[in-house]
Amino acid sequence: MTSKRVWIALLLALAGLMVLAACGEPGAAASGLPTLAPTITPIPPATPTDIPAPDPIQLPEVDWDEVEHFRAAMRPAFAGDIDAFVNRNRYYIEASLVFENGVAIVRGAERVRYTNHSADTLAEVVFRLYPNLPALGGRMVIYRAEVDGAPVEPGLSERESVLVLKLADPLEPGESVEVVLEFSVTAERGMNASYGAFGFQQNVFSGPEWYPMLSVYDEGSGWWMDRPTPDGDAVYSESGLYEIFLTVPEDFVVVMSGTELESFPAGDGEMTYHYVSGPMRDSLLVAGPEFGRLTEMVDDITVNVYYWPGDEVGAEEVLQITVDSMRIFNEQFGPYPHAEVDVAETFNFTGIEYPGIVIIADGNWERGNQFMEVTTAHEIAHQWWYGLVGNNQVSQPWLDESLTSYSEYVYARGVYGEKRADEWENGHRDTYNYYRGTGAPDLKLDLPVNAYVDNNYAMIIYRKGPLFFAELEQILGREQFFEALRLYYERHRYEVVRSRDVLEAFEDATGAELDAIFYLWVGEFPGLDPSVIEAQAQQAD
Ligand SMILES: [Zn+2]
Repeated sequence: MTSKRVWIALLLALAGLMVLAACGEPGAAASGLPTLAPTITPIPPATPTDIPAPDPIQLPEVDWDEVEHFRAAMRPAFAGDIDAFVNRNRYYIEASLVFENGVAIVRGAERVRYTNHSADTLAEVVFRLYPNLPALGGRMVIYRAEVDGAPVEPGLSERESVLVLKLADPLEPGESVEVVLEFSVTAERGMNASYGAFGFQQNVFSGPEWYPMLSVYDEGSGWWMDRPTPDGDAVYSESGLYEIFLTVPEDFVVVMSGTELESFPAGDGEMTYHYVSGPMRDSLLVAGPEFGRLTEMVDDITVNVYYWPGDEVGAEEVLQITVDSMRIFNEQFGPYPHAEVDVAETFNFTGIEYPGIVIIADGNWERGNQFMEVTTAHEIAHQWWYGLVGNNQVSQPWLDESLTSYSEYVYARGVYGEKRADEWENGHRDTYNYYRGTGAPDLKLDLPVNAYVDNNYAMIIYRKGPLFFAELEQILGREQFFEALRLYYERHRYEVVRSRDVLEAFEDATGAELDAIFYLWVGEFPGLDPSVIEAQAQQAD
């Protein structure tokens, strides 16, 4: 995503010296950065309305080996990628969405198959109920939980954002377990917590993580159960295949990760949409009755832009930026494998990325809005850096955000040429130097979100981070740099990376020794040559 702080930083960067000259104006924050008047006030989450327990949903049995229909969600050249995900995270979901008495309500049930890919024996399976986090501000309730057909007591913690299901029999490496969860999710009309990611406004429901999501089991540290800070992105997940049947009022337009296979009337003035995905680490649901749509192809990828009434002119520009971004990043980073990518206008503050979909703030849908351009290019770049090459966004935000912010230069270079790209990069450099000039700390990149305070998060992750990749490009030469980036993408597509994976890909592709520069910018991490750390420590003595 691009945070509100980044939004301020972006404005600074775009306005360059003009804004810097205004740095002495009253209201300068403790950090010394000029404080711009906020234009958007977050609405605190309302007390969630209790809804009656829904009627039980009987899910059909799922033949997990049958995966042919998922190939429709891939570009033909990547249809075979589905096969590697037969035994990865699998979701079969049936749900409905209605707007009732000022509340958007999703009622649903999911059959999930989880396979233990670790070397450990597992005593439990853990899901995340993200809407219960204050950062999302909704409410998710579990009505029924079953493991391999037997009812289990749901164990809730971390403000009900963690759901632990104890297993009657330990799950050995390579074994699978099948879970059924029945749930509801609600969002109050007008609700718009934190970044405006999750909520219900102006006849639009924006529902990231609207279903119980499998958490991640990491060998050595166990199931991920952290409570994310309100800053930054909250989700850490692994790729899997989604099959979803969503029923909505027939006038609704549905925007969901993946590809629509079919739709059919469900009676009572409702329609059911049948979606499948390729390997994706989340599924976003946005829906409402008033979306318009523009469509264009980039090679064999369908690009859809969904916009609100009156914003068609902005939508045409968003479509152009998205098409340019897809074309440029396909060439520079490696091919996007999914058949479709969508952009949806929502009430979020800036822009946020989800697999197969990005949402862009409604306030900026106008021709010539440079913030909209940068945000759209940024969120599209996240399809590669987060969507496809995933990471723990809470503990290692630099892995997706810094590389994505660097990708803004790649976009500018591809569309406008070197001069404009240099201007964007120099804008970041000026902003970062200004930040440093205030005495603010030059922190390393590889820190968790909550290690940064005040403006540090935006300045380190979104400004210093892209400058690190620009520095690598400078050192290695552009050709080698992009060879390394493509190797990194190819190796880790659909998977989860850590800092060592970036270093290894860049060293393997170029033959260069890069431990020292990684240590200097990124910090100390497993996989870094210890002699480099020792040498630096001796220098410091
Ligand atoms: Zn971002």
